Amino acid sequence: MYLNKQNAVPVMDKKNAPAAHCASGDCITFQTKDCFGEHIRADADPVRTVPDGEHNLATGPLYVDGAEPGDLLKVDIQRIAIDDQGCQALLPGTGPLGHHVQEEYAKVFPIREGCVVFSDQLRIPVSPMIGVIGTAPAGEGVATVTPGEHGSNMDNRKIQEGATLYLPVNVPGGLLAMGDLHAVMGDGEASTCGLEVSGEITVRVTVIKDSGLPVPFLKTADEYMTIASGETLDQAARGACEKMYAFLEQASELDACGRITLLSLVGHMEICQIVNPLATARMTIPAWVAETCGCRLP
Ligand code: CA
Ligand code: CA
Repeated sequence: MYLNKQNAVPVMDKKNAPAAHCASGDCITFQTKDCFGEHIRADADPVRTVPDGEHNLATGPLYVDGAEPGDLLKVDIQRIAIDDQGCQALLPGTGPLGHHVQEEYAKVFPIREGCVVFSDQLRIPVSPMIGVIGTAPAGEGVATVTPGEHGSNMDNRKIQEGATLYLPVNVPGGLLAMGDLHAVMGDGEASTCGLEVSGEITVRVTVIKDSGLPVPFLKTADEYMTIASGETLDQAARGACEKMYAFLEQASELDACGRITLLSLVGHMEICQIVNPLATARMTIPAWVAETCGCRLP
């Protein structure tokens, strides 16, 4: 199934009409616009002219038949394909370094042979990731710039091809939507954006019943990660830590002191981003440690 980028929403909302339906286990490709709605295609294109409602769009939503509140959506990210150019934009006063920015700035970088052409001397290997991926929250809709327990704008650079993300189902069908691809981004997202690109994301979506997994939860080839967002980075980091403790309580035989000790030895608190309306952090443990402790994922 192919979901065209014209099917996109600026808000994760249970009121959004589904763009498509699928069955559990189906593979779907989401075509996505970059976070500027593809309005910045050259250095001279002004950032401020991106129309309201076209920032940070998420393609979807996808209604997964049989997904009911309390279930999880298991999203296997099978493939990410990106455009051959990406954009970086700066606005005065935004982000931790915005006070150094005197006037609006946009720069388009070519992407050639798997590298961002940063300058004549510097080629940066791409590491494509999904900035926004989430489901509809149970209550009021939440704009796609804001992350939360429903996922969305987490800007976790480890949400890449080959990873598996578990998201909550808060409303019937889950209403999965995604976008805001980055060709590459550093932890923290210091300028307020990654290298913003259009592209395509192919995922397999599976409904998981009766799992107490704390979500959003991410698995890569090497790591297990819990993710949390909060008003401050400190709250986000503590939230992610608490979720990993809860995961180990559910999934391992370790007692409370054992869980805390393990997290202190091999758990890493990492920054996803500090520039969105809520900050996002992850707690990461090596997959081999989790699996040696008996942890299994649904
Ligand atoms: Ca983002
Ligand atoms: Ca972005």
